Amino acid sequence: MSEHGNQPATPEQPAENSVRNLDAYRAAYAERTAGMTASEIRALFAVASRPEVVSLAGGMPNLAALPLDSIGGEVARLIAEDGQVALQYGSAHGVPELREQICDVMALEGITAHPDDVVVTAGSQMGLDMITRIFCDPGDVILAEGPSYVGALGSFGAYQAEIVHVAMDDDGLQPDALREAIAEVQQQGKRIKFLYTIPNFHNPGGITLAPERRPQILEICKEAGILVIEDNPYGLLGFDGKPYQALRSMDADNVVYLGSFSKTFASGLRVGWVLAPLAIREKLVLTAESATLCPPTLTQMIVSRYLSTHDWQGQIKIFQEQYRERRDAMMAALDQYMPEGCTWTKPDGGFFVWLTAPEGVDTKAMLPRAVTQRVAYVSGTGFYKNGFGSRQMRLSFCYPTTDRIREGVRRLANVLTEEMEL
Ligand code: PMP
Repeated sequence: MSEHGNQPATPEQPAENSVRNLDAYRAAYAERTAGMTASEIRALFAVASRPEVVSLAGGMPNLAALPLDSIGGEVARLIAEDGQVALQYGSAHGVPELREQICDVMALEGITAHPDDVVVTAGSQMGLDMITRIFCDPGDVILAEGPSYVGALGSFGAYQAEIVHVAMDDDGLQPDALREAIAEVQQQGKRIKFLYTIPNFHNPGGITLAPERRPQILEICKEAGILVIEDNPYGLLGFDGKPYQALRSMDADNVVYLGSFSKTFASGLRVGWVLAPLAIREKLVLTAESATLCPPTLTQMIVSRYLSTHDWQGQIKIFQEQYRERRDAMMAALDQYMPEGCTWTKPDGGFFVWLTAPEGVDTKAMLPRAVTQRVAYVSGTGFYKNGFGSRQMRLSFCYPTTDRIREGVRRLANVLTEEMEL
């Protein structure tokens, strides 16, 4: 407790108290803050962004291929022509024209939806947070692939949900493991609120759920009365160009779909969406109102203009080609340099490769040595809530050039080889 009794210190006088108590406000925080932990990726950001370090750590999209001049021109015109709307509050549901266009985007994955079914969010991360806020009380169980997206685990933790991981193999989430996990959790008398899944070009797994497994997973969840949250920011970034059918296209009643323009257009605009059945959608709009009043009107209208004035599908093809080239560079370098005993996934889309080192290697402990040798990655433990992942690491090929990828993998292979000889 601080010298102010139960009262937190005022923000004007934190320095002295924080030296004495480390955190002068700690007695005042809500219990749920205990579940909020800094992501390992954020901690890595500062070192990994030094120019001499090849960062295979972050998942930043490569925006160099965007036609920035022409987008800039559209933004200027938007404000000149429609600034009174673009710079004004909007509805928590999202800009109507954009919601119509989002339905066209989702049609590429076989989804038929009405614009009213779409709620626009400030990135799909916000959608994840809202869904968890709506569904989870402390102690509720969320099923998620093991490993799973670190940002989702962060949101789940912030609402004190318990995460039960379900194993994947090369074809994605395993139906038998899902059945077993459901039975086990139910036996313990706990409530499962939803299955959170990334079916396409998984982050961090680099794996895609096989088409023949999709109906099976949906059937298992439907039978057990478990909602499916389909998180699909990479779905249009497949390297053979043909998108997989979304889970939502196969079950409109039991799947909530999260989409994003972060990887197909621009992550800094923070525009994503949730496609949900009516009752959930109403809760989402109320949640968005209480959190932010409405998502930013300006960035929604920028996306909308971009979609109507640019060849956005052609741009996605450019992104696909660029990422495929980088994936190829990473695969070739891994084949050439990695020591015996390392295995890795072979993604056919998205940004990430999941590498497993031989027994005895601890990728978290190894990371400072890797950074000293000027290469960074994310160690596997951050993608699990159960302590797994110590032999694994996530490597991203989205941002560095092919030469840097090759050099980064070469350095990493040296570090791993040394580690294995220790
Ligand atoms: N889900 C997954 C699987 C992701 O990889 C990311 C971004 N890294 C997000 C959601 C969040 O994306 P955004 O908020 O930028 O739409």
